[in-house]
Amino acid sequence: MTPPPLGLYVHIPFCRQRCDFCAFYLEIHREGRAEVFVRSLTQEIRLSAQQHIAAGRPIQSVYVGGGTPTVLASTQLIAILSEIRTHLILVSDCEITLEAHPSTISEQNLVQLLRAGVTRMSFGAESMEDGDLTRIGRPGSVHETVLAVAQARAAGFTNINLDVMYGLPGQSLESWQRTLAHCLTLAPTHLSCYALTVEENTRLASNIQRQRSPAPDEGLQIEMDRVAQQTLGDAGYERYEVSNYAKPGYACRHNLLYWTNGEYLGLGPSAQSYLDGARFGNVADLAAYDTSLAKSRLPIEDRTRLSEEEQLRDAVIFGLRLIQGVRTSRLHQHAANYGHAAVIAQLLAQQMLEDDGERSRLSARGRLLADTIAGQLY
Ligand code: SF4
Repeated sequence: MTPPPLGLYVHIPFCRQRCDFCAFYLEIHREGRAEVFVRSLTQEIRLSAQQHIAAGRPIQSVYVGGGTPTVLASTQLIAILSEIRTHLILVSDCEITLEAHPSTISEQNLVQLLRAGVTRMSFGAESMEDGDLTRIGRPGSVHETVLAVAQARAAGFTNINLDVMYGLPGQSLESWQRTLAHCLTLAPTHLSCYALTVEENTRLASNIQRQRSPAPDEGLQIEMDRVAQQTLGDAGYERYEVSNYAKPGYACRHNLLYWTNGEYLGLGPSAQSYLDGARFGNVADLAAYDTSLAKSRLPIEDRTRLSEEEQLRDAVIFGLRLIQGVRTSRLHQHAANYGHAAVIAQLLAQQMLEDDGERSRLSARGRLLADTIAGQLY
């Protein structure tokens, strides 16, 4: 049987500055650092192909994320895509997503990136209220987001995602509704709506601890989640995952791969891979990443082969995030393997999980606590 196509994730570990809520692995962008990184990434693509890491398997989706990939010059991004095409096999209708901060692109760059094969632009809008952006230390303005979407459209992009967040400090239900309504005027094909979570060791966590910023209100976030589902549903978007809404036919192929337990290869510092029943990750340190590749060694730090029970566990935990959920029989098999029957009974009693007899999924409240529930079912 031919193995199914893979996803390819490329992590660009640079931003101009760090937002208060962000805990991703990244470095502040400097041109010299970025040049060395692009050389290292090129070497990683070549070595991965030579060492058959992807075993000649076709790639169905490429996701260039970060960080802020568009802090790199478009010539650098185009060179990276060209290396990928030269050394790896992309299917003819490969989805190629590029994440961008709205203030880091121009229409001219977008035209070049479209010509280089990017099929989907994903803008980190975060909010459509300038006051929200200021309170989370996210540089840039709403005007830049509006302009970026217009420029992407003028350049020829038809598949555009906006990332927005709810439960932000000072954000009310009304201002969240205004953000959703403003997003809809931009007519994206896809919207990702993330509940703000407070990550350890971030400026936001420290601000909350010092009572300079309010902690997210769980009850308000549930209401915001409900409003998003209602508003976006009315506007013709299908909710297909905890945080993701798409116009029919525009669900993100790459992200679906994660939630359906598909296989993917991650390149770049801190990128994770899941291939041939094993999980492995790259070193989360740019200097160590560059050093390893300069010596023609892949920067893989750890490798864990998963048993069949562990593969089922991951499929269930990821699958519960999908609105279609997972087959209830698979959830029960996982519960039997790991002794989780009591946990599942409790989640059902707390109405965190829903079970219609055939399929099980997270409830509206459960979706807000998706990561905590994943930890309980692990
Ligand atoms: S732009 Fe995105 S990746 Fe960069 S610091 Fe802000 S949230 Fe994090």
